[in-house]
Formats: sequence, C-alpha cells, structure tokens
Amino acid sequence: MKGPLLAVGLLLFSSAAFSSDGAPWDYSGDTGPDQWAQLSPEYGACAGSNQSPINLTGFIDAELEPIAFNYEAGSEEILNNGHTVQVNTLPGSTITVDDIEFELKQFHFHVPSENLIHGESYPMEGHLVHADEDGNLAVVAVMVTEGQASDALEKAWAQMPEEGETLALSTDISPLDILPSDRDYYRFNGSLTTPPCTEGVRWLVMKQPISASKEQIDQFLQVMGHHNNRPVQAVNARPVLE
Ligand SMILES: [Zn+2]
Repeated sequence: MKGPLLAVGLLLFSSAAFSSDGAPWDYSGDTGPDQWAQLSPEYGACAGSNQSPINLTGFIDAELEPIAFNYEAGSEEILNNGHTVQVNTLPGSTITVDDIEFELKQFHFHVPSENLIHGESYPMEGHLVHADEDGNLAVVAVMVTEGQASDALEKAWAQMPEEGETLALSTDISPLDILPSDRDYYRFNGSLTTPPCTEGVRWLVMKQPISASKEQIDQFLQVMGHHNNRPVQAVNARPVLE
C-alpha cells in the first residue's frame, strides 16, 4: 500500500509548492526537464519564452527601489516532497515590491544553484516564495556559498524530513536568517522553476550570498538523493535589471 499512499502525499505536497497537477516529473530521465512541457497539458508553460532559471548577465542599470522586507512571523513545518526540502512559514511576513504587498508562503532549496550569475554556479540556492492577494508570485533568490554554517539551516536540518514526510517544527526558524545583510538585488521576469512552470513571476535575486557549511549542503543532497536544479533557460528578449 506504500504506492497509493505516497501518490496522495505527493499530490498534497505539490499543491503546497504551487504546482496544480499531479503528473510525475523529475530532474533526469524520461520525466526530466527536457520533457516537462510534454508530460501534461498543465505543464505547457515549461516550453514558454519567459522561463526560469537563467544566467544573469548583461545587466541594465535601473536604480531599483529597495525591497521592503517585513519578515516578522516564523515557520510552521518542514516537508520533503521529493523535489526539495521546504519550510512553510506562518502568515504575516511580507515584502513590498512595485507598491504591492506579497506574503511569504515558504522557502526551499536547490543544489546546486538554479540561476547563474555571470555564468557562475553556486553550491546551493534558496528560494523565498511570496504571493500577493491575487495570486501573483514573487521569489527572492539567495545564493549560498560554502563556508560558515548557517544557523537557520542548522535548525531546519535538525528535523530533516524523509521523502513524503511533513514535520511540525519544534524550533522557530526566522526567514530573516536566510537573507544576506546587503539586500541589493537583480531583477527579471521569469517562471516557477518546477512544473507547471507558471510565468509572470517577479524574480528578485540577492547580489550578496549567504553561507552554509559543506556538511549542511551535503546533508541536503544526501536526503534528496540527486541534484534538484533545472538547467538555465533562454533569456530571449528579457532585460535583467540591477
Ligand atoms: Zn525553487
């Protein structure tokens, strides 16, 4: 009975990760990134021209307004949906971009990084996923270098969930601890990096990385059992602002 139970679990988790369809997908093989658009009609956007991730380069100086971070609330639970390890946050943490308030829903990680900066890959990348009241998405991306251990990851990984598991967090993890101290950022229009690859996502990529220890990055990779980065997508006509 493990199969059906697991399938139900994955459906529930994928709705938490903003994917609306249960068609199985993966990071390699017959259901890998090159095939996503063909796996389900709902994944058609994966073949779109405004996809994420990208190689961020050729920046246009736009004097971007600072992002107003108002991260107050903590975190509720941690889950492993087979595609990432994700921390679901409590309501009440927001960012303001373009005079629109977006509420933080969750943060999760990719190893190695999905976006590249000037062609450079990082050992890990964190995504803080926000939605406004109309369901528009804004993702704050944070590159992670190998170095000093991360306090936030130490707390999170202390309750590292196995695939299909969701655990109530016994210690509070502040999303502020995933952010670098310098909040300068690059900006481009992109998509979810996982099916259904929905476009119209505001991507806000922090210029300054945070650090995590080699052990912390390895622990994530070990629990995933594989890399979980979508390859970079064509930039096409999109400007990348800084
Ligand atoms: Zn992500």
